[in-house]
Amino acid sequence: MYQPAQNRYDKMIYNRVGNSGLKLPAISLGLWHNFGEVDLFDNSRKMVQRAFDLGITHFDLANNYGPPPGSAEETFGKILKKDFLPYRDELIISSKAGYDMWPGPYGEWGSKKYLTASLDQSLKRMGLDYVDIFYSHRPDPETPFEETAQALDLMVRQGKALYIGISSYSAEQTTEITAIFKDLKTPFIIHQPAYNMYNRWIEDGLQDVLTANKLGTIAFSPLAQGMLTDRYLHGIPEDSRAGRSSSPFLNAEGVQETIEKSRALNEIAQRRGQTLAEMAVAWILRDGKVTSVLIGASRVSQIDDNVKALENLDFTNEELDEIEAVLAI
Ligand code: NDP
Repeated sequence: MYQPAQNRYDKMIYNRVGNSGLKLPAISLGLWHNFGEVDLFDNSRKMVQRAFDLGITHFDLANNYGPPPGSAEETFGKILKKDFLPYRDELIISSKAGYDMWPGPYGEWGSKKYLTASLDQSLKRMGLDYVDIFYSHRPDPETPFEETAQALDLMVRQGKALYIGISSYSAEQTTEITAIFKDLKTPFIIHQPAYNMYNRWIEDGLQDVLTANKLGTIAFSPLAQGMLTDRYLHGIPEDSRAGRSSSPFLNAEGVQETIEKSRALNEIAQRRGQTLAEMAVAWILRDGKVTSVLIGASRVSQIDDNVKALENLDFTNEELDEIEAVLAI
């Protein structure tokens, strides 16, 4: 039987989410890849156990994670049942709806019809009564934000979600929906955008909106899906995300576009006594604007590596300038 590490809370940093009562670990684990039905259950289970042993209390899911869609929530539900039932109150579990999940007009985007049905399905797959955070996974260009916000607000009133988040909304869209949540008094506390050294779109307006509204930020794909690690420095391993044909979101061409920068960044990381992954995580946390770094992993050793980032979060101005110079190439 799994016994969590006694010292699991000793080293992790917990950051407050905006001005809410909730804290999240500086590093959270996402289950987008490597937790599907196609993946080895034992490996998935060991990763969740190791994460929790290291103080990672937050696990991020979505209706469509797998493959097939839904199976990551099923895998997580099985892991919860086997290992974590006594620890439910120590966990922050999130899910989302927004992307294509089932056929027909009610299987994606932001209508009340879709969001309500999707959360009910997610709760069943995970064997939970409630999720801690439920997200609108992407803005819906056709459904009024009032409807999406009211559907999310109702989930909180019904006790199916404790807090609400949004993902990949632009600065303008965030401003608009925040005003609606304020009117409804919804516990809307967090935005989940992509953010890493190679994708800095949130610095162009969104971060200001989040700061002004005292909202938290959890950065997804912090390692640019592995490009900001040593994974591809010497070619494309067959078992990597870019090497596997089953992962359409990263391929050899994508890796090629950034490999020179990754090699140069790796040298800076080595001088800091860190791996590139560790430096990439630390860089996201550098100015205190990001609440949590939402990593992915395909094996336990990657979680160990990424959490080690917390041992050196400080950058000199020279290091930051050097990184900027590489990114500007
Ligand atoms: P990352 O950028 O952290 O990439 C994770 C991948 O990088 C791993 O699967 C692994 O790939 C490789 N890796 C991780 N750590 C190391 C290491 N130390 N050394 C070498 N390689 C490493 O994040 P993801 O793209 O996986 O996204 C993380 C989470 O963010 C998702 O699980 C999900 O929860 C969320 N997300 C949300 C989205 C949204 O729209 N809201 C969209 C995308 C993600 P390999 O398989 O090659 O070993």
